[in-house]
Formats: sequence, C-alpha cells, structure tokens
Amino acid sequence: MASTVGGGTAGCVLANRLSEDPSTTVLLLEAGDVETKFPSVDVPLKAMETYSPETNWGDYTTSQNAACQGMKHNRCFLARGKVLGGSSSINDMVYARGQAVCFDRWETEEDCDGWGYEDIKEYFKAAEAYQNEDLVQAGERCNQGNELMIKSIHAGELGETFLKAAKQAGLPALNLSDSRSNEGSSRVHATVNNGVRWSTAKAYLRPAIARHNLHVATGSHVNKILLFNGKGIGVEFVRNGTRKQVGVKREIVLSAGAIGTPHVLLMSGIGPREHLEEMGIKVHADLPVGEGLFDQMTLNDAVRFTTNQSAGITFQQANKLSNRIRYNLFGRGTLASNNFLEALALVKSNKSPGVLSRALPADLELFAISSLLGHFAASLGLIKNITNLEDGVFEALFSDLVGQDGFSIGVVDVLPNSRGVVRLKSRDPTDVPLIDPQYFEDPADIKRLLKGIRAAQRIGAMASLRGFGSKPVIRQHPSCSDFPFNSDAYWECYIRHNARPASNFGGTCRMGSPSTNSTVVDTSLRLLGLQGIRVVDASIMPTPVSASPMAATVMIAEKAAVMMTQPSNAKSDH
Ligand SMILES: Cc1cc2nc3c(=O)[nH]c(=O)nc-3n(C[C@H](O)[C@H](O)[C@H](O)COP(=O)(O)OP(=O)(O)OC[C@H]3O[C@@H](n4cnc5c(N)ncnc54)[C@H](O)[C@@H]3O)c2cc1C
Repeated sequence: MASTVGGGTAGCVLANRLSEDPSTTVLLLEAGDVETKFPSVDVPLKAMETYSPETNWGDYTTSQNAACQGMKHNRCFLARGKVLGGSSSINDMVYARGQAVCFDRWETEEDCDGWGYEDIKEYFKAAEAYQNEDLVQAGERCNQGNELMIKSIHAGELGETFLKAAKQAGLPALNLSDSRSNEGSSRVHATVNNGVRWSTAKAYLRPAIARHNLHVATGSHVNKILLFNGKGIGVEFVRNGTRKQVGVKREIVLSAGAIGTPHVLLMSGIGPREHLEEMGIKVHADLPVGEGLFDQMTLNDAVRFTTNQSAGITFQQANKLSNRIRYNLFGRGTLASNNFLEALALVKSNKSPGVLSRALPADLELFAISSLLGHFAASLGLIKNITNLEDGVFEALFSDLVGQDGFSIGVVDVLPNSRGVVRLKSRDPTDVPLIDPQYFEDPADIKRLLKGIRAAQRIGAMASLRGFGSKPVIRQHPSCSDFPFNSDAYWECYIRHNARPASNFGGTCRMGSPSTNSTVVDTSLRLLGLQGIRVVDASIMPTPVSASPMAATVMIAEKAAVMMTQPSNAKSDH
C-alpha cells in the first residue's frame, strides 16, 4: 500500500498513475470535500466563488513588515484549495510550463540532477492534451488521450486589442508551448474542457476512481506521519471527529501542498531542531522544512482604464439570465471560459542587450483583465473580504467604479527574491500554521513590480487600446497621498500597501543535493534522513519558475510517478 496525503493537484495525478498497477493499493487522504459538490468549481468564470471556506483553507499571512501595509493588521489573505483537486479546483486555470531556462537553473545552480528542461519536457508532454490545432503544432507532440485538457482561450475584443498593443510596444508573439521563447505576448492557455474547469480531480482522479485498488477518503485531516526505526510506517488522521491510524507498507507520499506538507512534517517531528524543541515535539529528523517559502505578488488594480465602449465584462453582465441559460444548455459563452484573464505578456524587468539577455527568463507577467475592479465575477462583499483591506481603502480605490466599463492590466512578480517561512503555531494539528512569506523583504521585488507597472502603462498607452476611448483611472491610495500620483515613490508606496499574494507557493521542502544545508528531499523526492517518505508537490521547487506553477506541479507528479513505478526509466532515481 502507498498512501498519498493530500488529494490536490499533485495528489490526484499520483493517485491515477500509481493505481495503474493493480497490484499496488493506493489510499488518498484529503482534508477537503468532493469537488463535484460545488458547482462554482466547474464554472470557469466563477473561480472567485470557490474562495468560500467550504473549498478554501482561507489563511492569512502573519503580520508583514514590508508588504500588506494596507491590509488589516498588515496581514494578507492567502488562498489554497481544500477540496479534491486542491488548488487546481480553485485557481485561475492559466496553463504555462514555465521557461526552459528556469528548469535548467534547477539543474545547474540548484544541484537538481535530472530536472533540466530537456529531461523534464517529457513529463509535461505525458500530461498535456492540447485542444487547439495551433497548440498541437507548437507543443511538438500531443496525445489526445492524455489527461490534462488545455485550450487556448478565445480572447475577446480586449484580449485581441491587448495583443496588438503589446506588439506595438515591442513585444513579439510568444509561443507558450515552446518554453525556449521568453519574452512576448500570447492568448491565455487554460485547463478548461467543454466549458468546464479541468482540475486534476477531473482529469486524473475521476477516470481512475472506480479502480478496486484506489481508495479515496475525503474529510480526512492528516495529523502526522507515524515513524518507527527511522522509517515512515503509517499516518494518523482525523475523519468525522475520530482519530484513526493506517499502516503503509510501501511509501508515504506527502502532496499536501507548499503549506500543508511542511505543516504535517513539522507535526511529525521532521523539521528544524530548534523550532521543534521549542514546540516540545520530539525531533526525528533535523531538516530545513518550512524554510525557503516563496510566492508571487500581484497588482491587479494599479493600471486601470475606464472606456467609453464596452471592453470588459462586469459582474452584472456575466450573470445575466441569457448568459446563464447559454452556459447551462450548451456549456458556452462568457461563463465557460476564464477570459476575465484575456491575454498575457511575459516581460523582462532587466533587459541587457546581447546574448546574455537571451539567457535571462522573463520575470514579470502581465494580464489583460476584463474588469475595472481587478477581480472578476465576485460580489463586492467577497472582494472586500478576501482582500482584507483596511477600512476606507476599498472605497477610495474602487467604489465609484462599480458597474463601469473598463479594464485593468495586472502585473505579477513571477521570479521573486524574497523568501519566508512556515512554522507551527501550536501542537494542535488543526491549528493553521504560521505562514510568514516575508514579502518584499528583498526590496528588488518592489522595484521589479514598479517596472511591471511602467510596462503595463506603456502597453495601455498604445494606439490600439486607446481605441476603446480609454482613460487611466486616477485613484489615490489614502496611505500614499504624500507622494505625487504616478511618481516612482507613489507606486512603491502603493506596492507595499496594495500588492496581493498570488498564492503560488513553493520552496518549503526544497529539492537538492543531500550535502546542501537547504535540502529537504533529494532529486528522487525522497525525504533525507528517514525512509519510506517522499514529497511530491509544489513545495519541492527549489526556486520559482517564470509562470504560474500548476503546470510545473503536474510535471513534478508525473515524473515522481515514473520514479516510483519504473525507477530504471527515471534519470534521477537512484
Ligand atoms: C487562487 C489561486 C489561483 C491560482 N491560479 C493559478 C493559475 O491560474 N495557474 C497556475 O498555474 N497556478 C495557479 N495557482 C497555483 C497552483 O494552483 C498551485 O501552485 C498548485 O495547484 C499547487 O499544487 P499542490 O499539489 O502543490 O497543492 P494543492 O493543489 O493545494 O493540494 C494540496 C492538497 O492537500 C490537502 N491537504 C493539505 N493539508 C492536508 C492535511 N493535513 N491532511 C489532508 N489533506 C491536506 C489540501 O486540502 C489540498 O487538496 C493558483 C493558486 C491559487 C490558490
């Protein structure tokens, strides 16, 4: 028996791949519920409605020193899926592998042998089933029998115009499926199939769920791993209020995500000695679990334009009866796509001419967002709630724009320098851990977002986007009114106050060489110092990749499954 803790993005991939062998019994333990219970999980345009506690852990950061200054108690809201499919059941569905150079750096700079782009490419391909002919070509090979349906979303008028404007601003067309190209603009590729979100629960778990050797237990919160003689021998979990234990013959795989996995490991006595001793927990392995936490910060409401013709979609329009009928009957229309994110651009903040710059990945991602609020398809109450903004900030930045036509150009710092930490708050396993991402502790992250704002403004000022009759929105953040609007100092203040987490976490159980102090798992994803435990999720990423991380997480799970089932075929398994 192999036991997988966490039925999220990676966990569902593993549940399918490991149970392909009828002689292997797999138990999938998931704290959340069954995803099919929640219609909002399926409807792409309702992504923000999955922010309810039924499907989302809904954590907050600890009080931040350099970021979240405009949020109550300087704490930012964090999203993460608590449902089968995990964060792939609540995310924005944007699919991008990430640029080759980022994975090459894992191999050359982070000692992750076998994880360079040429080695891992086949694991992306093992998952991807591109739906559009142009993507099939660009993806070099595409197996329609693969699990993960990916579609190039039809960009609406805003998206197409943004792509023209990006070209006018000097950004070439970008081929997202060819990860060697690293600056330019593109339609959004999304994990959507026939108008339905294609989470890994839909893609991998549902087709396998009837297998006699796969057992899925939802509502099962894993407290800790059970250890004996330096080996993981089982897990303890709580289901329906009852504490249970299950023995594991083969391997325990932790796929509880970059917050959940370090939480379970720390509870099990696997982590930094000093912290565990301080918490009164017996130390089984002294490892830097929970350190190296990274996330990507976003600004969706800095660069906004009102228009005198319809460019975006308002909450009211999307929810019109005709749109709902079209979706319910035919799976089509506005609700069927995630085209509140209509198009994207990858931009390098530090351009130096010549060969060297080609080797640099783009470190900023821009999105054309068809809403003036920076958030789409969510009620105002929900937006207020999830942003955790100080009283008065929401009113100053948004309230008189509600219902108006317009669009935003969002900015994401995809390669942040700042690193934070996940620590235990208490010895109660149901107590949310302390999540301290230390956003902007490295000021280079603020400078990068500032460059992103300037790049977004450049694109927004191009003739094609001005064709909407667009006018920049000028709304002063109340805490930054000492600085002239649009000065660098103003935006730096705005970034510290109003940038928000993308909740694209990683880095808390870093993969690397066993001889390096920061390593938690080796390149086979085996936990150092103990036997029978692997970590397979976004937490093993040693550094961020220049994209949203779901694609890379699926790739990690595909590669892990091969390492576990056919070790001789997986280069890094030893
Ligand atoms: C709101 C949001 C939008 C995003 N948008 C995008 C996007 O558009 N594109 C993209 O590429 N990426 C996006 N991401 C990021 C991406 O979805 C994640 O990086 C990726 O899905 C992480 O996968 P994972 O397997 O590591 O963790 P998860 O998918 O989060 O899975 C972890 C699972 O473990 C379960 N779990 C945790 N603790 C326990 C426990 N103690 N016991 C039992 N179960 C437990 C959780 O409930 C969850 O189901 C987004 C993320 C969020 C939150």
